[in-house]
Amino acid sequence: MDLRILEKNENSMRFVVTGISTPLANTLRRIILAEVPCMAIDDVIMIENSSVLHDEILALRLGLIPLKTDLDGYNLPEECTCNSELGCNLCRVVLTLDVEAVDETRTVYSEDLVSEDPNIVPVSSKIPIVKLAPGQKVRLEAYAKLGRGVAHAKWQPVSACAYRYVPTVEIDKDVCDNCGDCVDVCPVGVLEKTEDGVKVVNEFECTLCEDCVDACKKNPAAIKVSGNREAFVFYIESTGALPVERIITEALEIYKSKFKEFANQIAVIRNGSEKTD
Ligand code: SF4
Ligand code: SF4
Ligand SMILES: [Zn+2]
Repeated sequence: MDLRILEKNENSMRFVVTGISTPLANTLRRIILAEVPCMAIDDVIMIENSSVLHDEILALRLGLIPLKTDLDGYNLPEECTCNSELGCNLCRVVLTLDVEAVDETRTVYSEDLVSEDPNIVPVSSKIPIVKLAPGQKVRLEAYAKLGRGVAHAKWQPVSACAYRYVPTVEIDKDVCDNCGDCVDVCPVGVLEKTEDGVKVVNEFECTLCEDCVDACKKNPAAIKVSGNREAFVFYIESTGALPVERIITEALEIYKSKFKEFANQIAVIRNGSEKTD
């Protein structure tokens, strides 16, 4: 297996993995989406709410605010020894909101949430929660916990996680008449018309849509696109809850532990059948 990073910034990464199968690439994608934990608000104790939003809608909006996550500092609620519905300080963080619009209308933003842990705060300060008219108030306590995307999308640490085959675009120079139709139709500028014929200039960006093949009037088409089934371009975009590298390493750890558990189960079944034999 070989890994090459194409681009990376604070919240996203694009990389190529070669030498793995499609099921393995898809397993990695699904673990990232459904199994890598992050923090989200899960319980809300409403003390006062005179805004236009019902308590449930307000709680739903709070749950969807991505929170910076300290994966090493907290337990998953189901793995914590407290067995408490609202959790303990090892498995939950309390954020409070106490806002009133006095003389004029004001918008309540994520920055108005006050967290007891400075490491667990909204990833952005300007996420609007509700608008208050003069005299309206919201006072509440929100309990954030670690959770997994398989239970609710609010616990997905990524806003995008996708892969595609590494593309190959080939032009048959003996058949191509340099009409340029494929160049015009390509939505991502993979092809360029030159005096020497059509050239592939940006192969990596090809999405394998095959519009160029459909546009070619030759029969069979003078242009051919194909995907390498053992090389994948991954794009992962974090919500800001966790750095992208941590999301990937966590997903690989989860994969390893699932695989180990599977192997253990097989061993148990085999030993059991040996005994009954
Ligand atoms: S398959 Fe689509 S993206 Fe790729 S070269 Fe052809 S038109 Fe462009
Ligand atoms: S559409 Fe076909 S014939 Fe025309 S330039 Fe492209 S590959 Fe060549
Ligand atoms: Zn606990």
